[in-house]
Amino acid sequence: MPARPSNGGSDARKPDLILVGGGLANSLIAWRLAALRPELDFFVIERGSTLGGNHTWSFHDSDIPAAALLDLRPFIFASWPRQGVRFPGHARSFDVPYHAISSERLHEVLSRTLGSRLLLNQDVTALTPAQVTLADQSVIAANCVIDGRGPETDTPLALGFQKFVGLEIETETPHGETVAMIMDATVAQLDGYRFVYTLPFSATRILIEDTYYSDTPELDAATLSERVRAYASAKGWRIQRVVREERGVLPVVLAGDMDAFWQRGDPGVPRAGLRASLFHPTTGYSLPDALAFADSLAALPDLSSVAVRAHVERHARALWTDRAFFRLLNRMLFIAATPAERVHILERFYRLPSALIDRFFAARLTAADKALIMMYMAAKPPLPFFKAVGALGETPAWAFARRAANRNVRPVS
Ligand SMILES: Cc1cc2nc3c(=O)[nH]c(=O)nc-3n(C[C@H](O)[C@H](O)[C@H](O)COP(=O)(O)OP(=O)(O)OC[C@H]3O[C@@H](n4cnc5c(N)ncnc54)[C@H](O)[C@@H]3O)c2cc1C
Repeated sequence: MPARPSNGGSDARKPDLILVGGGLANSLIAWRLAALRPELDFFVIERGSTLGGNHTWSFHDSDIPAAALLDLRPFIFASWPRQGVRFPGHARSFDVPYHAISSERLHEVLSRTLGSRLLLNQDVTALTPAQVTLADQSVIAANCVIDGRGPETDTPLALGFQKFVGLEIETETPHGETVAMIMDATVAQLDGYRFVYTLPFSATRILIEDTYYSDTPELDAATLSERVRAYASAKGWRIQRVVREERGVLPVVLAGDMDAFWQRGDPGVPRAGLRASLFHPTTGYSLPDALAFADSLAALPDLSSVAVRAHVERHARALWTDRAFFRLLNRMLFIAATPAERVHILERFYRLPSALIDRFFAARLTAADKALIMMYMAAKPPLPFFKAVGALGETPAWAFARRAANRNVRPVS
């Protein structure tokens, strides 16, 4: 039974807000509301036994404002002063700090803040802008219901995928890594663009993720897990034990129909996080967007479902328009380039100025940045001019068809 009894859908003890899903986006909203709007009566309903599932959420220092970074401190469990990339013909390190939040830490800190405002192990089976229904058929009415249940499986977006399996391991002896290695692409190129991502948490604890920019969402977890072990072995790191495993298939957006996107789903229900398309179009990462949205929501004077739905839709559509350039780049990567060419494009990208790369990840590119990226991406071989121009158009049907055609290109192995 929920800690908070159902109000049978009536106005009796009706809370201001119910956040459905205790993932990253709704957790950050709850955290911001608890701090900035103490007058509000709200609660979070999560079907899992903890907030946040099983994730390590990382971000670049430059992705979020300095003040927000200070506020996020309680959730950050690891930071690195530098980050690096490695390609077959080029390696580079950046003096830009990198940070990681674990779902474990998020749960530990936020569940203490929320107390009885957090309902765990509760599956929401139906929702409207005015109420939610739980699996036991109890109904709870509220002035506003926000759907933060994570990504929908079937959306009117043409997608590529960033997919990975990560093993957090304890090594028998110190592994010697100190830098957050964002991309080690010196590995064999398979299934599109492949790289290994490593985060050293201590002298003998390291997360190793085998990652692909792939045309397909299928994840062969056993094979990727083996490749992680092979990578560790090649580095001379003997695995004492695997502490945890995480898997992800993140969206890389090539094109989409935002009108159709917002017409789908539960009518009139405000959304948050991936469900509201609030993520970086190229990396699929959502932490900076989730934080910015939580702040914007906490500042809204009217928190009725109607007002919040209008706000999130306006917010997401504005980002969609603003980020058209990222989708163009993604089409160049996934459609104009063959899967085997992706590694060269990424290698060229990482020769660009460090400050531009920061703005890329923060999704704050200037017009001059965009011009420079295009010169690097399109004007230099091996991306064929006509295929690059062909990637300019943006309709989901076209992008789906082109990407399907590209799958016939055999990856190098
Ligand atoms: C393994 C992994 C690693 C990632 N790493 C990063 C990273 O390093 N940096 C970054 O910025 N992004 C990262 N991402 C991408 C993205 O930020 C995450 O997917 C993020 O968790 C999305 O937030 P969200 O709140 O939209 O959805 P989620 O965090 O997925 O939250 C959805 C929540 O809703 C709950 N739920 C679903 N249905 C119901 C229901 N019917 N009733 C009640 N609860 C329900 C789920 O249990 C879940 O807790 C990662 C994603 C994955 C999968």
